[in-house]
Formats: sequence, C-alpha cells, structure tokens
Amino acid sequence: MGGEFDLVIRAARVITGGTEAACGIGIAGGRIAAVWPLDDAARADGPDGGLGETAGRPAVLDIDPDVVVLPGLVDTHVHVCEPGNTEWEGFASATRAAAAGGITTLADMPLDSVPATVSTRALDIKRRSARGQCAVDVGFWGGVIPGNAGALAPMHEAGVVGFKCFLADSGSADFPPVGSRQLTAALRVLRPLDTPLLVHAESAEAAAAITHRGGRGYADYLAAHPRGLENLAIAQVIEAARATGGQAHIVHLSSSDALPMIASARREGVRLTAETCPHYLALTAEEIADGATAAKCSPPVREAANRELLWAGLRDQILDLVVSDHSPCTATMKELSTGDFGTAWGGISSLQLSLPVVWTEARRRGFSLADVARWMAERPARLAGLPGKGRIAPGCDADFCLLAPDESFVVDAGRLHHRHPVTPYDGHTLTGVVRGTLLRGRPVDLERPRGRLLTRAAGLMPAGGRTVRCESW
Ligand SMILES: [Zn+2]
Repeated sequence: MGGEFDLVIRAARVITGGTEAACGIGIAGGRIAAVWPLDDAARADGPDGGLGETAGRPAVLDIDPDVVVLPGLVDTHVHVCEPGNTEWEGFASATRAAAAGGITTLADMPLDSVPATVSTRALDIKRRSARGQCAVDVGFWGGVIPGNAGALAPMHEAGVVGFKCFLADSGSADFPPVGSRQLTAALRVLRPLDTPLLVHAESAEAAAAITHRGGRGYADYLAAHPRGLENLAIAQVIEAARATGGQAHIVHLSSSDALPMIASARREGVRLTAETCPHYLALTAEEIADGATAAKCSPPVREAANRELLWAGLRDQILDLVVSDHSPCTATMKELSTGDFGTAWGGISSLQLSLPVVWTEARRRGFSLADVARWMAERPARLAGLPGKGRIAPGCDADFCLLAPDESFVVDAGRLHHRHPVTPYDGHTLTGVVRGTLLRGRPVDLERPRGRLLTRAAGLMPAGGRTVRCESW
C-alpha cells in the first residue's frame, strides 16, 4: 500500500477535518491520497500498516513536534497589479511573498492592473503575463463594471473564479462603480452560473455628502469614512441578493454594525457571505499615529471596540473568512514623507504576514489553528470554487503550510518579498513562523516557479475519480 505514495508526511499536529490530530498523509501525483491517524502503531507507516519492503517505497518527511501542518492557505483577495502597474507589485514578487507566508493559492483582483480584468481579452492578457512567473497557484476574479454585463458569462466560461464590483469609487478610472440597478442585473446574470459576486460595499451617495480635506490626522480620515457608508451599501447588497437569489459576498468588512444585518439576512435564506482582513482584526484607530499612512485603507481601520466585535463575528460564524486585501503601491504613493491621509494610496500591504498577524491575535482570544485554517484556507477555497484546495483531505492538492505556532519574530519590512518595504506591521512582534510551504507535495522553490493558473471548480479528483463541485453556501 505504501508503495502507492510518492511521499508520506508524519506529524504530531495536523489540521484536518476541523480539528488537530497526529496523522500520516500519503501523497501521490501531487495530491493527498490518504490521511490516517498516527496513534495506532500498527498503522504508523501507512493506512494498511507499513510502507512495504519492496521497491517504490515512498520518501518520508517527519515533521518536528513544534510544527503544525496546516492546509496551504488560500488568499482570495490580492491585488497583484500586473500587467500595467508592475512597479507596485507583480506575479513574481506577490507569489514569492505568498509562499513565504504559507499561502499556496491566491486569487487576483480584477482592478489595479492594466487592462482591468473586465473581458475575456483582458483575462487572456493577464494570464499571459502571469504564466511562468508564479511560485504558487493563482486564480483570477473577473470585474463587473457598467456596460459589461454581456462579458460576464464568457469570462465565467473562460474560468474566472467569480466576479467583483464596487459600489463606490474604486480609485481606478477604468474600474467604475455600479449602481443599484446594475448590481441587481449582475446578480441576475451570475445566478444560473452558480458563481459569486464580490462587492466592495461603501455607499457612493453617502460618501459624496462628506468632505475630507486631507491632512495627517487619522481621526479626521476616520470621521470622513463612517460606518454608515458600509452599513447602507451592505443593506443594498442584501436586498439585491434577496431579490435575485444570486450569491453575494461582502469584501473587507470593517463596520461591525453590519454583522446583525448579515446574520438576519442569512437566517432568512439570502445567499450572502462576508470576509474581514488581518488589519481590521489587529490594528485599532486609537493606535494609528497621525501621518502613519501605511495603515490607510478603505474602509478604514476603526476603534478597538469595533475590532472586538469583528472577532465576535468570527466566533459566531457571521464572518466566514479572513483574507489579506493585499493592496500595494510604491512608497512614494503612500505619501510616507508627508503623512497626508487625503492623498496617500488607500491599501495595506500584508500578504506575507497575514497568517502570523491573524494567529497572534486569534490565540490571545482563545481560537485554535483549526479556526484559522477554516477562515484562511477552507472557506476562501470554497468561495472561489476551488474544492481541491484549502483542506487536508483525500483528493485535495497536497498543499501545506508548516507553521511553528509558538515561535515569534520581529517584522522587518525590508526583508519581506513584497516589492516595496511598506507595511503597517514593520517593527511589530508577531507569533507564528512559517517554516516551509509545499505545493502539490513538493517544497516551494522561490527561484523555480511552478504555480499553475487555476479555473473555477477545477482540481479535485477524489478516490472515485469524479470531479466534485463545491457545495453552495
Ligand atoms: Zn481590495
């Protein structure tokens, strides 16, 4: 039996089936072929008791007892910015940072590159620029903008993992926001395709009534981006999803006010999911110094009390997933020298750090690594229609993150793989060191990229050899 595997991993701590257990993992052809408990000595080397004495004996990787084997993380909210703005980030640098941070799959947002991914032609251009550069697997979101409703089904057919739209100014002229009727129309088009619409939910109408003159004060920036902008837009998304039966997903939720609304809509059967991001779970408005524009993002980081309510939202499973919203730019665009919150780029760079940032805060609140794996691997994979990703289970890709969860380090922004050494976590002490990352059963080599470009609902070949589609939410 053991001869069927190319590799066997044995570890005292494996996150599988929603819990942590001592396991053996048999890998064949880059996929997980079997997972078995290690507490049974007779089965210590394989599901049938022994790796066999014949030729073809697999390699065995014994994991240090202080290291936990997690599924490779899946980050469905990354702005790679290539082609067109490759000086901000790019497929090579972003996927190296991802791999170093334990992420084995990322999904690229459809804006901040040129062209924006709003047609099959633009998707082709993006795929061509990514090919051969990616250290981890990469999927692509398609964009919904005014006037491209006819392009959605063809982009779905071409394999985007889902769609994204804005209800407020995106900051990119070639990615304008949609109005209420266009939001509803897009959900109607996407419903029969069984693919989600991710929504940047801030109200353009309410934002237009607020003036912010800029400057270094964080309190002024926060006051110009009140929770109501999110609350209003999320209510609109809920009603559009209710009316159409379409599947909507709220990206980067910051306003905890919206949690009861989301919970009640879901109880009523509205197909709605929501994510938050490491910065909303770790940073607080009280601690962001005036002029500290590395922490500028939209919606903004809010007060400490809001942060605790977001943690409660994760505990209550109203928030489904945690993804980075890695949104990089050059140091100049971040206005670090002037510290002007009005003109600085709104976006936080944290791709390589998202796991230790979340784990540092999660463990202090009594959450487990199984919780973290659910938020940062299993649920994002499900959102993006990638059933072969995000879990340690037979049939899934053999993607793993090897984490030393009790080890700490001090962040040195200059040593991250991000293109620019700008992150609000510079100098922070974080817990959880990624010791290694495996992609399809082999350690990721940052100099030899072998990441694949993914399409929705591809990838899982369980024991029966049948492709299983992701169950709907
Ligand atoms: Zn984003």
